[in-house]
Formats: sequence, structure tokens, C-alpha cells
Amino acid sequence: MRSLTVEPGIPDSLRLEEFRIPPADRGSVLVRAIALGVCGTDREIIAGDYGCPPPGHKRLIIGHESLGVVEEVPEGVSLYPGDIVVGIVRHPDPVPCANCAVGEWDMCRNGRYTEHGIKSLDGFGSEFWRIEPSFVVPVTASLGLAAVLTEPASVVAKAWEHCERIGHRARWRPQSVLVTGAGPVGLLAALLGRQRDLDVHVFDRAHDGPKPEIARALGATYHHSSLDAVPGDFDVIMECTGAPPVIAGVLGRSAADGLVCLLGVSGSGGVQSVDLGSLNREVVLDNRVIFGSVNANRRHYEAALAALANANRDWLHRLITTRVALTDWKTAFALRPDDIKTVIVFDDAALQKFS
Ligand code: BGC
Repeated sequence: MRSLTVEPGIPDSLRLEEFRIPPADRGSVLVRAIALGVCGTDREIIAGDYGCPPPGHKRLIIGHESLGVVEEVPEGVSLYPGDIVVGIVRHPDPVPCANCAVGEWDMCRNGRYTEHGIKSLDGFGSEFWRIEPSFVVPVTASLGLAAVLTEPASVVAKAWEHCERIGHRARWRPQSVLVTGAGPVGLLAALLGRQRDLDVHVFDRAHDGPKPEIARALGATYHHSSLDAVPGDFDVIMECTGAPPVIAGVLGRSAADGLVCLLGVSGSGGVQSVDLGSLNREVVLDNRVIFGSVNANRRHYEAALAALANANRDWLHRLITTRVALTDWKTAFALRPDDIKTVIVFDDAALQKFS
């Protein structure tokens, strides 16, 4: 089987390598890859800034936004060959901590969790991958290639769930949302906001290309000039860029009792000057909350699938702006202006069959 590997910590070490299909002790379910979504985290790993190989190995199979078809499954498991599935990215830590012990591995407390294609576990960027049944999520086949958006949608579904849980500390009647960044995570956050009937505003620096129209097609208002020019305070702000100037610009923009949810993972540096005294006074006097959110557990994958099932299929497919075959792997990870989601298609014939 062909697999995309990197040496974490070493810039530009991406290679396509040939391996034997891994043995069943790496996971009793064998999945044949159909497609793989590419995200900013993959680019950071390829740049040598993030990621960790499995113990005792130098290289890591990359990829965490999966879509595949079950090839082999042990008896007694309610999965069948031919099922269209995605793999859950994070696995609980071995201790386990209080959260991992109850399946809330997205809230791991000791940092010893592992993540497929990111941290100490081989990923899904391989013609075949293995996984344990409890980390397999069957997806709605009618989503077609858009089912590859399940993982980023799960991250967004968790962020919304946490906003709602925090919001319910008092009477929770949100009306307005600001999403910064119109990448896949931002646009999916906007989708889930519209599905909650909220007045959604999307801010991104792109003033042309597909993003403005895709946001507007949701019924959201698109802004691109400057954050200061976006009018109003927001009940919920989902910060999806991870860009320090944008983060600094949104911290003080939530309404009284409002929430700022930080979803973008940034590198170090990017120092901004923020008047912490004023920010603190506003946050305290208005009961505002600023919090971070990462990853997703099984409940969030299920919420993501429900959100994708309720979305307009054509709209979802518009998020996939670049499709490349595995043979073009070298170009797949390049950052293109106006690109929203690049997907590497591993098995076009399987894709045609189910979509
Ligand atoms: C993935 C998450 C992961 C996070 C941190 C993101 O790109 O979508 O599943 O937890 O990176 O590693």
C-alpha cells in the first residue's frame, strides 16, 4: 500500500512510501481509503513545526481527515464490509485521566492522548488503515465526497456544544455570531450558526474568490475590509484564523454575557499589543467568557453528521475547492490562494460507486 509519510520536526520531509498492510494488532478494522482532507495542521507538520511519530519510529503517516470503506471487520462488531466510515482522530491517554476514562478524550487532562496522523499514531493518509471498532464512525453515504468534512465539522460541533453549555449558566438567547476566517472550519461554524437560526457574520481577508459567495449562500453577511468596520457586538465569536491580529481584534467584541471561542491553533510569536486592563474590566463587568476548544469526541462526530445531513449538499461540495489524485500528492499540500478544502482522492472508483 502507498502511504504519505513525514519525519516530524524536519521541514519538507513528505514522501509517498510503499508499505505492507499493517497487521490486525494495529486495529481490528481494516479500512480502504477513499479520500483524505488536507488541513492547516498537516501543513504545519510538513513544515516541521508540529507532530510526533509513533513510539520507536522516525516517520509518521500523515492525515487525519479520513473517508474510507470498511474492508475487513471482526465478528461480533456492528460494522460491515462496504460501510462508508471515518476514523476518530484522538485516542484517550493510557492512564486514563478523568475525562479520557469516560470517552471525553477531547478534554484530556494530562496531554498523553494520541492523534492519528498528528501525535504518536499513524494517520489516514494511506491506501489502507487500521483502527479499533470503537473509533470508527459510519457516515451517511449520500453525502458523497462531502463526508470527508466530518472531522472538521466535528471540531466545530464541539465548539458549538461548549458555547451552549457555557451560555446556559444564565438565560441563553443568542442572536448574533461573528466567525473570523472563511476556511473550512470557519464556514462550517457559520453553517452550524445558521442551522441555529442566528444572524451570522463572517469575516475574512479575501475580498474575491469563492468565499464571499459561499458565506452569502448560507444567509450570512460577509465582511472583508477590516474587523473594526464590522458593526456590533456578538453573542458568540468563533475565532477560526489563529492569526494574532485577528485574535487581538475579537477579544473585546463579544456582547455582555457573550463568548469568544478560540479554535485556530497558532504558532508562537505574533506579539500584539492589547490593553489588558480595559479588556479585563470589560470581561469581568460583562460576565464574558474567552475559551479555547480543540478536537472532538464521538458525540461531536455524531452531531457533525447530523449537521452535514441537514446542510445543502451542493453548498457542502462547494467547500471542496481542490481535488487531486494520490499520484499528485506533491501538489496537494501547497497553499493556494482562494482554496478552501483540498481533498486527495485515493480511490476514485469507490467514490463513484457510493456518491
Ligand atoms: C485537528 C484536531 C486536533 C488538532 C490538534 C486539528 O487540526 O482537527 O482533531 O486535535 O488539530 O492536534
